[in-house]
Order: sequence, then C-alpha cells, then structure tokens
Amino acid sequence: CGIVGYVGAKSASEVVVEGLRRMEYRGYDSAGIAIAADGRLAVAKKSGKLANLEAAIAEQPLPDAGTGIGHTRWATHGAPNDVNAHPHVADSGRVAVIHNGIIENFMSLRAELEGAGIHFLSQTDTEVVAHLLGAELDGGADLAGAMRAVCRRLEGAFTLVAVDAEDPGTVVAARRNSPLVVGLGEGENFVASDVAAFIEHTREAVELGQDQLVVITADSWTVTDFAGEPAACKPFRVEWDL
Ligand code: GLU
Repeated sequence: CGIVGYVGAKSASEVVVEGLRRMEYRGYDSAGIAIAADGRLAVAKKSGKLANLEAAIAEQPLPDAGTGIGHTRWATHGAPNDVNAHPHVADSGRVAVIHNGIIENFMSLRAELEGAGIHFLSQTDTEVVAHLLGAELDGGADLAGAMRAVCRRLEGAFTLVAVDAEDPGTVVAARRNSPLVVGLGEGENFVASDVAAFIEHTREAVELGQDQLVVITADSWTVTDFAGEPAACKPFRVEWDL
C-alpha cells in the first residue's frame, strides 16, 4: 500500500518510518522495514499499526545506516500477520523486497521455485519476487539487472523496491500498473508510492512511466526500461502544502 525507499546520510530507519507515517491515511494492516548495513540486512515487520513496528524497533534497534526500504501492507494474498508483512527476503538473506499490487502469475512461479527446492515462509504473492531476485543475484547479476530480469517474468500490477546487502548504497525500484515517484534531494534520494513520503525532505520529483526501473544512490538516479534502455523523464516540482 505505502512504499518508501531511501539512500543518503540521514538515519534510513527514521526517514523510512516517518515516510510510512505520512502515508498512513491510505490505510494498511501491517508494516515493515529493511536496512542494509555492513554486508547484511536487518528486517523488522509487524502486523497492525506502525506503533507496533516502532515498538519492535525500540526493543531491537536497527543499525544506524543510510539505506533502507519500508512498506505498509494492505493484504491481498495471505492473512495480515507478521510473516506475511513485507519486506520479504530471499533464502540467501541477501536481498529484501517490498511490493504494492498483485503478481497475477505468482502461483506458477511459486511452483517452479518450490520445484527447485526453495522454501517459502509466507502466503503472499510477493515472496516469489524475493526468491527470483535472489536467484538472479546468485547467478551474478547486479540488483538492477536482477530486477529487470524478474520484472520481465511478472504479470499483474506492481511497484517493487529492493535492497541488496552486498551493494548497500543502492536502492532499486520498478513499476507496472502501480505508481512510483522518485524524490531528488541534495546528497540523498528517495523512492515512494506517494510524494507524501518525502516532501518534507525535497520537492524535486520524477514520476516513472509504465514498465520502468530506477536505480538510486545518495547522489545519482538512473531510469531505464525493463530491457535496460535509458528512459527519458523530466523532473517536476511538487506544489503541495504540508
Ligand atoms: N499483494 C501483496 C500482499 O498481499 C501486496 C499488497 C499491498 O499492495 O500492500 O502482500
């Protein structure tokens, strides 16, 4: 339902939780966050209100790092519980992904992955994406290449955002039939399903077109299509009052 990703010098967990709070008006049943730091991912996720996630983080603090992604879920496949909350993580533990929308062909993808010995933890349509990304990374792709290859296999509606523990200064996001905006800051960049997630940090934004992918680092953003061809897009200024 609500999606936010951040790369920059601030505390990613604070920026991400604040971004999720600003999208609470959309409604949700669970919330979660992943932080990439020191070659590993730290994940916290909880059903219920954002306050439940914040309590879990207070009990078990997340690393103080500058790269993170967060999600508020409105369940379509699988009950609203802690396990089904996003992010979902590949078996290797290397990559975490959050998703808005519905992967229409997840059942055949899940059968294929289970046939290859992958163990699923959740009942979501989203978890196939985590394992497919993990397989692409294991095969030598970088996160953007992995995301493009996976998106080409998906049917349905998705905004997807992923982080790779082995490339911790990067967030990759992609979309089809579901919105995705990039927030362009000074030494920091954002991705979100809604400008509300980042307008307290920056008013410069770029909206991604259909079947496009963006790679953000603290000081760069690059948009391509799912084949890897550069895509043209024009920044605009968000004229909203907080
Ligand atoms: N279909 C996914 C799920 O049920 C994502 C739902 C959403 O858009 O929040 O977990």
